[in-house]
Amino acid sequence: MKERRVWGDLLGLAPPWRVRDVEYALDEGEVRIFVEVESRAKLRCPTCDRECAGYDARERRWRHLDTMQYRTIVIARVPRVDCPEHGVVQLGVPWAEASSRFTARFEALVIDWLLEASFAAAARQLRLSWDEVAGIQDRAVRRGLARRDRKPPKRVGVDETSFQRRHEYVTTVNDLDAAVVLYVADDRKQASLDACYAGLGAEACAGLEAVVMDLWAPYIASTREHVPEAEAKIVFDKFHVAKHLGEAVDRVRRQENRELRAEGDERLVKTKYLWLWNPDRMSREQWREFAPLRSSRLRVARAWAIKEAAMLLWGYAKRGWAERMWKRWYGWAIRSRLEPVKRVARMIQKHWEGVLNAATSNVTNALSEGLKSKIQWIKRKACGYRNRERFRNAIYFHLGGLDLYPDALDATHTKA
Ligand SMILES: [Zn+2]
Repeated sequence: MKERRVWGDLLGLAPPWRVRDVEYALDEGEVRIFVEVESRAKLRCPTCDRECAGYDARERRWRHLDTMQYRTIVIARVPRVDCPEHGVVQLGVPWAEASSRFTARFEALVIDWLLEASFAAAARQLRLSWDEVAGIQDRAVRRGLARRDRKPPKRVGVDETSFQRRHEYVTTVNDLDAAVVLYVADDRKQASLDACYAGLGAEACAGLEAVVMDLWAPYIASTREHVPEAEAKIVFDKFHVAKHLGEAVDRVRRQENRELRAEGDERLVKTKYLWLWNPDRMSREQWREFAPLRSSRLRVARAWAIKEAAMLLWGYAKRGWAERMWKRWYGWAIRSRLEPVKRVARMIQKHWEGVLNAATSNVTNALSEGLKSKIQWIKRKACGYRNRERFRNAIYFHLGGLDLYPDALDATHTKA
């Protein structure tokens, strides 16, 4: 008698649920707890709460937290009621969510593991299959997204992240103030960002004050379509301008290196990263190697100087100053006779407003970049997600700021 009550207390059961029996299959490494509904209990339809006649009962099993070193299974015959309005419906159980084969407490344990360790580690340590872990993560994310009720974001960053193979992408929209990922969409097309804006809703889109993004035509087109007065709100930030100019410098270097080597000049061999690194962060030795190259008459040195000049054109207090300085820079870049640099200069001119918005505001995508490096960490930890769905779930799981734990936890004990 007492033993059954103790097990019921440990499980956090309340009437009409009670423990009927406990089986100690220790040689099989398992404890089985049989739970039942008291025979005289009144049954209610889970949908309308009306008192109904019992129909039948079906046996279901859930994996629970281990009892010491023994795997522990809860087994219950769960009644079905015959509701005049809803037909034959199975009762919910207080220790688990409707569709799960794990108790809420066990799912919470898996969630805690996933927050700290890799998918593979969680699966191995808890003796679960990869699919079981994925199912628990998927339910956690769905719960979190369904519960999400945040105030509309003011400043968002749009970013792309490559996924598994090099040319597959997901688009993320990040709340720059709350430092969370709001949306993840497949690919980096206009439709990708369209989907995020649709998820945000027209009202929230109208309330946006800044959208920080790359100079990427599909994102720009989508933002123009969904965000009123987009021209004043789109911000092309320093990181992305630096990325494009860095690529231009590298193109100039590659071309020039080919020409020099054809004449037996090896000066630019193995110098790729010297041109891309921030000079402030170079070691003394790197600087010694780089200084003569930088002040040489090489084309790449000219491209590099133009890039570095652009890096200084941020943080202006007045738009007029920013505009004057950027125009001067543009004139220099466009007359440089360096095709890759001219291409970036034209791109900047085409998106003039967005660059000036960035140069005179202190909104940057630095935070998006931070989230992006966490996404890279998620990717490494998972050793490459086999499908997009799981990658997307993992991003929401770790960076969505979501409330992930099952509701049923509250129905039993409160989480310690
Ligand atoms: Zn009903």
